[in-house]
Amino acid sequence: MAKKDIDWSNIGFGYIKTDYRYVSNFKDGSWDEGTLTTDDMITLNECACVFQYAQTCFEGLKAYTTEDGHIVTFRPDLNAERMMNSAARLEMPQFPKERFIDAITKLVAANADFVPPYGSGATLYIRPYMFGTNPVIGVKPASEYQFRAFCTPVGPYFKGGAKPITIRVTDFDRAAPHGTGHVKAGLNYAMSLHAIVDAHKQGYDENMYLDAATRTYVEETGGANFIFVTKDGTVVTPKSDSILPSITRRSILYVAEHYLGLKTEERPVPFTEVKDFAECGLCGTAAVISPVGKIVDHGNEICFPSGMEKMGPVIQKLYDTLTGIQMGHIEAPEGWIHVIK
Ligand SMILES: *Cc1c(COP(=O)(O)O)cnc(C)c1O
Repeated sequence: MAKKDIDWSNIGFGYIKTDYRYVSNFKDGSWDEGTLTTDDMITLNECACVFQYAQTCFEGLKAYTTEDGHIVTFRPDLNAERMMNSAARLEMPQFPKERFIDAITKLVAANADFVPPYGSGATLYIRPYMFGTNPVIGVKPASEYQFRAFCTPVGPYFKGGAKPITIRVTDFDRAAPHGTGHVKAGLNYAMSLHAIVDAHKQGYDENMYLDAATRTYVEETGGANFIFVTKDGTVVTPKSDSILPSITRRSILYVAEHYLGLKTEERPVPFTEVKDFAECGLCGTAAVISPVGKIVDHGNEICFPSGMEKMGPVIQKLYDTLTGIQMGHIEAPEGWIHVIK
């Protein structure tokens, strides 16, 4: 076994086919034992529930090579639990947590040659997902499902350092109260595509969504949670039932409190308060933290004191500590690092 001949530091965030993917099918009320396969194609009936009524949910996590040469994943138990919650909300069968962890362990071990080497900045992105497979034309949940997980090497999210981004407050809504914003459902992304294409057309990197009911509180972007830092160094993150519970955000709050001794607050954040923060960032598995330099609300600009050149000092510390834990040079809290090999 040898690492694949890939220019690790120059791959982007795209799909590169690897050798194996994991598949398990649900039929007659139970999951089969599951297997690795080299077949990257899926053949489904034209009337499969996923095509008609978007009955699908997904997860996203990464495998890394640590400094001492192990291949690890970060808190996969939380991805497993979140996928179970997503499945329940979408009337899909739950893929058990132990099975989820076993599946991604086998997947990554089988594709070990695709895990980028330590120090390259690249990682192996893992995409577990599940969808209704049998024909359904009357609106109801499918009775047969497939759980699948593939992986693809992805390049460093920030080439040449993390430059702060500019985002806009959008007039579109992402998630209704009591809707599906808190689960990782494909449908939440389908309806965000128009908003993000439009944001890019207008010259913005991302959309800030406000709460759909009152449009006065900060929710999140299309695919990342917000963290803010107050002028006196408290880390603040919005609380809402329609925000996707980011594992990165939950980990950052823990790191802020237990590693950096910072105060943290998880609470509703009125948009009117945003102009008073010292730093702002977006957090998610893909980038860990992207610094936000500017937020534009219908022509009114909020420019954070951290500026447009680099991360603010607190967000930089959070970023360095969390990535240090993931890469193995800072000791991780119990259970955070799942060693594959
Ligand atoms: C996946 C996702 C996030 C980030 O979650 P992580 O677990 O940190 O990767 C944030 N917001 C939305 C809408 C998401 O789908």
